[in-house]
Amino acid sequence: MYELVFASNNKNKLNEIALLLSPGITLKRISEIGCTDDLPETQPDIEGNALQKARYVSEKFNVNCFADDTGLEIDALAGRPGVYSARYAGEQKNADDNMNKVLLEMKGISNRKARFKTVIALVWNGQDFLFEGIVEGTIAENKNGSMGFGYDPIFIPNGYSKTFAQMDLDEKNKISHRAKAVIKLVSYLKGLPILL
Ligand code: IMP
Repeated sequence: MYELVFASNNKNKLNEIALLLSPGITLKRISEIGCTDDLPETQPDIEGNALQKARYVSEKFNVNCFADDTGLEIDALAGRPGVYSARYAGEQKNADDNMNKVLLEMKGISNRKARFKTVIALVWNGQDFLFEGIVEGTIAENKNGSMGFGYDPIFIPNGYSKTFAQMDLDEKNKISHRAKAVIKLVSYLKGLPILL
């Protein structure tokens, strides 16, 4: 059994990722290694933020770890909220406020194409690795569903007529941006000698 630290305080993400990891890997929260810090996310893009969080925890606590960062990119809004997804409607980082702002900005706009992009940064023995996952979809006219988190109630993945928030974890995990990035991470980890 190998333990890997996930540099995040987000329980929803932890639950999603834990379901996708292979049986040989146990996910450890940062609180379990004594880290209660607010992780820094001050970079101009999601790759930079994922790396910043993973390096911060790895260097401060001397562990191998990974972090993820996600952005919702909406074509009609020139890619916004993008790297600003968490605080789109303000520093309170409130999901309802963020969705309301998006819905207001998208009112009357027919091009509703959008995508979720996740980047996972792994710091392994001091080396950095990046894994990306993207899911294409559209922005709904209204919020729908109560599962998931963040922008899930307004995102309809391509090929579906319901939002991520109307899917249970298993269904979301079959197609989501984060799942795609985690699958790449897992396949990389499986190739590492320590896990053989
Ligand atoms: P971060 O990766 O925690 O920085 O997330 C940025 C923003 O995107 C936050 O507002 C999250 O709630 C939101 N977010 C991240 N992952 C998802 C997801 O899988 N579904 C919906 N919203 C998400």
